[in-house]
Amino acid sequence: MVQARNPHIASVLPSVDRVLQMSAVQALGAQYSHTAVVHAIRSLLSEMRQAMLEGAALPAEARQALSLTRHLQARLEAAFQPSLRRVFNLTGTVLHTNLGRALLPAEAVEAVQAVMTQSCNLEYDLAPGARGDRDTHVEGLLAELTGAEDATVVNNNAAAVLLVLATLATRKEVIVSRGEVIEIGGSFRMPEIMARAGCRLREVGTTNRTHLADFEQAIGARSALLMKVHASNYAIQGFTATVPEKELAALAHARGLPFVVDLGSGALVDLSQYGLPKEPAPQDTLAHGADLVTFSGDKLLGGPQAGIIVGRTELVKTIKRNHLKRALRVDKMTLAALEAVLKLYRQPEKLAQRLPTLRLLTRPAADIEALCRRVEPAVLQAVRNAAQVSVVPCHSQIGSGALPVELLPSTALALTPLKRGRGEGTALRQLATAFRALPVPVIGIISDGALKFDLRCLENEREFVAQLVQLQLDAKG
Ligand SMILES: *Cc1c(COP(=O)(O)O)cnc(C)c1O
Repeated sequence: MVQARNPHIASVLPSVDRVLQMSAVQALGAQYSHTAVVHAIRSLLSEMRQAMLEGAALPAEARQALSLTRHLQARLEAAFQPSLRRVFNLTGTVLHTNLGRALLPAEAVEAVQAVMTQSCNLEYDLAPGARGDRDTHVEGLLAELTGAEDATVVNNNAAAVLLVLATLATRKEVIVSRGEVIEIGGSFRMPEIMARAGCRLREVGTTNRTHLADFEQAIGARSALLMKVHASNYAIQGFTATVPEKELAALAHARGLPFVVDLGSGALVDLSQYGLPKEPAPQDTLAHGADLVTFSGDKLLGGPQAGIIVGRTELVKTIKRNHLKRALRVDKMTLAALEAVLKLYRQPEKLAQRLPTLRLLTRPAADIEALCRRVEPAVLQAVRNAAQVSVVPCHSQIGSGALPVELLPSTALALTPLKRGRGEGTALRQLATAFRALPVPVIGIISDGALKFDLRCLENEREFVAQLVQLQLDAKG
């Protein structure tokens, strides 16, 4: 033991038992449990011992009860603080994949809580008292809202695409326009998904222009299906040509092949009625003749993470029989949340208020600006000696691959470090770090030499302002 080799250190540091007897430490024991406190004391003392062995002069006060308990408390708080925490998303990207995408409405939260804390009829058909199918809780709603014959749900849209391809196209060819062979943030790459599904990607056309004849010529004995993929997070502009869904559907059907569309985001309502850019809807794609359409639950739909597959009954049935479906299935929490969110779509008049995604996307620019002006003094107070604060116009993004080129007018607080020239970048990063170190971390973006907070997604103004007094600008960047 280290202690045995260095009797001086052993005599200077208190024993675990002595620390345990301190009254403040006993209070920690009551809060965090004896075991957790002993563990924290051991690791703290061993770090102090190590520091002394390496020659650090431990000030006498570091060994005092007050200092020890403060360190223990901080250690225990850190150990029990959840890793997955809520944050203020002030990045201006409403559906931010790294920050959890769609926020759920209260109706969904209640539904999730009920099935989490009590048994439920997840796969149990109550009328006959017999085994049921978990998809029944949402398939009717999905059919009603999209006009599809049938529907099924899996873990996310990547899983939906994988399952569709693995069911309908293994050892066969999938024909896709070269302009749609895409990669989406978070490592979804069409060619890799195809390879995993065991099918061959047959690219047709060119990056910017693909014609019906390109598809026609590619169809052969090994073709499994024609596929269209929503370009999502990029846009091809200028001299371009794509084949309309109707024409692709007609061609596929004339050759006896299914036409499958990966819509990515997929909005269940026409967003243009809210003054938002129009995003392709599954119901339109199905009406154009698609046999299967896949889309995400937590993008524009505004629900939980899920991959939704809607389309023709026999194809959906075949997909559900694939054993991969069992591996990709959703749990009861997802189904409860999804059902509650889909039910909101039955009351379209209330949607823009009740569905957080839509509420944030349609938030009036004047409201956001007024909010910026209200919180500006508190932010200025918090950063007083380090930065100046101004209210600036900006643009929010929908995010998650929807309409990459469409931007929503918004307003931001721009924090510009007072330090100019050398060290300016460091000052900016330190500012951002300090905001991330707040009890509810505040996440903004750095652009044009300023830390910007787009307040479109700030709904809890009071909590945001209240914690600003805790901002510590000397935090290490
Ligand atoms: C987002 C997206 C995916 C992946 O969806 P996840 O739900 O994130 O798995 C697949 N395809 C397209 C076109 C997308 O936009």
